[in-house]
Amino acid sequence: MNKSNRDQNILILGTGYVGLITAVGLSKLGHNVSCYDVDDEKIEILKRGVAPLFEPDLPRLLNEGLAARRLKFSSSITDSYADQRYVFVAVPTPMFAGGGVDLSALHAAVATIAKLVRKQTLVIIKSTVPVGVFSELRNSLSPTQRRQITFVSCPEFLSEGNAIHDFFNPRRTVVGSDEILVSEEVAGLFHELPGKFILADPNTAQMIKYSANSFLATRVAFINEIAQLCEVLHIDVIDVASALLMDPRLGDGYLTPGVGFAGPCLPKDVSALIDTAKRSSLRTPLLTSLCEQNFGHLNHVIETISAGLGARNQVAVFGLSFKPRTDDVRNSFSLKIINALAEGGIQVRATDPCAIPAARTQISSNLVSFCDDPMDAAMDTDRQIFLTPWDEYRGLDLRVLAGIVRTRSIFDAAGLFDPQMITQQGFQYVGVGRQFGAQGRPTFVCG
Ligand code: NAD
Repeated sequence: MNKSNRDQNILILGTGYVGLITAVGLSKLGHNVSCYDVDDEKIEILKRGVAPLFEPDLPRLLNEGLAARRLKFSSSITDSYADQRYVFVAVPTPMFAGGGVDLSALHAAVATIAKLVRKQTLVIIKSTVPVGVFSELRNSLSPTQRRQITFVSCPEFLSEGNAIHDFFNPRRTVVGSDEILVSEEVAGLFHELPGKFILADPNTAQMIKYSANSFLATRVAFINEIAQLCEVLHIDVIDVASALLMDPRLGDGYLTPGVGFAGPCLPKDVSALIDTAKRSSLRTPLLTSLCEQNFGHLNHVIETISAGLGARNQVAVFGLSFKPRTDDVRNSFSLKIINALAEGGIQVRATDPCAIPAARTQISSNLVSFCDDPMDAAMDTDRQIFLTPWDEYRGLDLRVLAGIVRTRSIFDAAGLFDPQMITQQGFQYVGVGRQFGAQGRPTFVCG
């Protein structure tokens, strides 16, 4: 078990979903955390104690850290840097259009800190980075910087919407360094946290992260494929999935049928792993087929949703973020579905508990409008399409909904509703892989 490493001075580069959660979490553990970001606007908002992203419990912890003076934000690296031994890097590592990882922000962040260090420093990479990247980073340093900087991998496993809970209740904390004492020292910063500590070499740590996300993507793709089979075989996929989840050999979660794996991490991390394999001249037929399956499934969902709809129709879309309890719309399949509907000339009234501002910046079609109130979104619509499983939608009054729509026609990709209850209110119900009541796959009957 690693020793506690308390009350340390820590610098974090990047205050996005990962950097900010790490910052408030470490400050709550008693460390003094200074945060630097190239985004001045974000830093100004953070200084005022306002969270620039939606994450349950984040505002409380942010303000506690500021009030206790254990959290500081600046868009000046010279103001932020005070010889901290621990420098966390949590900058984006997005996917290039043709696959592969864009490491430009990582290189820029490392160059920023390398210019300043005057003593032995641990640069701890929270960003998801491909196996082997540390030698590339070391090669970018001058000989003096190379003697002063040790890179450590500390991959992040948080799940957006649950990120604060995940920080304080990790299933495991992975620390990757070639020097065991360094790994123990970094693990000691998180000493109070429960769960197992895995001390590995950097490449193993990075492979654990990519394998975890690829495995989660595999589970999602798998259950969506089973859902499509269930549709043609007249079986309810929820009966199948619930039984699978009772078997401890099959593990927890990520077996809920839906629109596909999306968001800022799973698709890019699967693609990065395929790219890593290609560089070693290795074929990865399973990983490669995941991406194909995922897009095929999304197209299947779009076809099902749009069945019988045309330019004369108006629909409501419930849920814009790629998952509930976050405002993150990066690579959200809801936006892809909305764009596909609008391209077909269908008017879309979209709603979400918190992701409307982010979605507005991504959608330009004048056939799409946004409504804060879900009932406003549903008004006079021909189909009600539930894409993100926000709890807020489970409690919608179906009687009221039935009274305000033009056609009672629900598509439930989010597994929010009991089909029997929906049909009792006079709605047609179609879900992903759902089967209920009379024989035959439920499909929309139009006209
Ligand atoms: P993000 O886009 O929300 O935040 C990144 C932040 O870094 C932004 O505020 C940006 O302004 C800042 N930045 C960019 N270049 C910088 C630089 N040179 N110096 C300082 N700041 C800089 O990204 P994120 O979602 O927090 O993801 C960060 C990394 O963590 C990625 O590698 C991602 O794959 C990984 N990750 C993300 C999640 C997640 O759920 N979001 C989970 C696990 C791992």
